[in-house]
Amino acid sequence: MMTDVVIVGAGLAGLSAARYLSSRNVTCLVIEARTRVGGRTLSQKAPDECEFTIDLGGQWIGPTQKRVLSLVEEFGLPLIEQTWHSSYPEDLGQAVGLIRLTHEQEQTVIDVYDIWDKMAEELTNLEQVWLNEKAKEWAEMSVASYIDDPTLGFDERLRLELKLQVLTMTACNPERLSLLHWLLTLRSIPGGSSSLDDGNKGAQHFKIAAGSQQLSILLAEKQDIRLGDGLVSVDYSSPSEIVLTLLSGNKLTCRRLLLAFSPTLLSRVSFMPSLSSDWHCHMTMGQCIKTVFIYSTPFWRGIETNQTEQQGPCSNIFDLAQPTALIGLILGDQASLWCDREENELVEAIIKQYNTLYRTDHQPIHTFIKYWQKEEWSGGCYAGVYPPGSISRWENKRKTFVDGRIWLASTETASEWVGYMEGAIEAGESTAKYILNMLQ
Ligand SMILES: Cc1cc2nc3c(=O)[nH]c(=O)nc-3n(C[C@H](O)[C@H](O)[C@H](O)COP(=O)(O)OP(=O)(O)OC[C@H]3O[C@@H](n4cnc5c(N)ncnc54)[C@H](O)[C@@H]3O)c2cc1C
Repeated sequence: MMTDVVIVGAGLAGLSAARYLSSRNVTCLVIEARTRVGGRTLSQKAPDECEFTIDLGGQWIGPTQKRVLSLVEEFGLPLIEQTWHSSYPEDLGQAVGLIRLTHEQEQTVIDVYDIWDKMAEELTNLEQVWLNEKAKEWAEMSVASYIDDPTLGFDERLRLELKLQVLTMTACNPERLSLLHWLLTLRSIPGGSSSLDDGNKGAQHFKIAAGSQQLSILLAEKQDIRLGDGLVSVDYSSPSEIVLTLLSGNKLTCRRLLLAFSPTLLSRVSFMPSLSSDWHCHMTMGQCIKTVFIYSTPFWRGIETNQTEQQGPCSNIFDLAQPTALIGLILGDQASLWCDREENELVEAIIKQYNTLYRTDHQPIHTFIKYWQKEEWSGGCYAGVYPPGSISRWENKRKTFVDGRIWLASTETASEWVGYMEGAIEAGESTAKYILNMLQ
């Protein structure tokens, strides 16, 4: 039987698209390679304290992320406000043991973001980004080369802070991140870069008590979903149908196809006829190991961190509160490094980092470690990024893939909040609207 639309990927983008289309009487089937929904969100119960949930993937929500907050409200999911154990949550370096920024340095950080916001505003043609006047120059440069430019006169602490902030927001070292990609990310944030901050009213303001995977679980409830079968090939040679082959060997036919996963995974699917080289994806995935260490007591609260300058694996550390735990994010090159080492070595290194940072000898009761780069159907996280020198037609996010028949939607293709859960929902819903128009 021919389905109107097959959606590949039961993450927030795919499920938001499925919900939009099925509510308009379009028959949809969602195909998911994993045996669960949620993609880059993954929540599980904490041992011993089963009333609490741990998020090992996407977690935080900001007060201006209206789509995700509207789902939270509709599903009646209670939110928890993030507890900030550091008095200076915006000073990320201080949270991991670097010397506190002076007031002057803090002001310079704010000024740099103002400049980046203004540069991002210059990108007026978002559909064809490469046509903007400075796009080529910025695409060639890395964010690190911008920060290190001697004419800006930043001292070493300031450069470290700026690089750390970019790393924590993209899971990519700024040396490997194109300045254009970074500016486009900032451009996608309604209200500008200040909405990204840690601290109150920033992008890490709320968590969903039951875990963010609940959003996908609840979105999936009324949808027709096939779990545990990945898409391997797409034959669109016939004008009247698209034939899909799944890992199991099963075949499906549909009129329209929505690929709702990161463009970095596209090379895993073969197309007949082959896609034009314009569709070769130059993005690489950010790299992150998310860790949650549960302790018997929140020893880290209310104390100044030890400024040792000794960096451990975690580039960003959060207080989880329920259960009593520290979340440590290992990011970019550090994540690649630790991915190849024994897990017990990593656990030891994190305990040492926390014990040095908070001058303690506490040991965790439980440890959780999620290596996202080892996940076959994600390949990393938080999202795909463009390395320097890779400007390509991929920037044309809203372009139909093949004659209005095949589309792509994921947080990477969002117009707002690129890289975030909010972006995934926006991309799924808006692409579903295009598909509906094509079907009518
Ligand atoms: C550790 C971590 C921390 C994060 N922190 C935050 C945060 O605090 N706040 C925030 O807003 N965002 C955060 N994010 C990002 C957020 O989780 C993602 O932006 C969002 O979940 C992406 O949704 P998506 O639907 O675009 O893609 P995905 O969730 O990746 O969904 C794509 C789905 O497609 C499936 N798939 C892929 N290929 C195939 C195939 N060939 N056949 C069938 N199925 C396939 C995958 O299994 C997956 O389920 C974080 C992510 C991670 C991993």
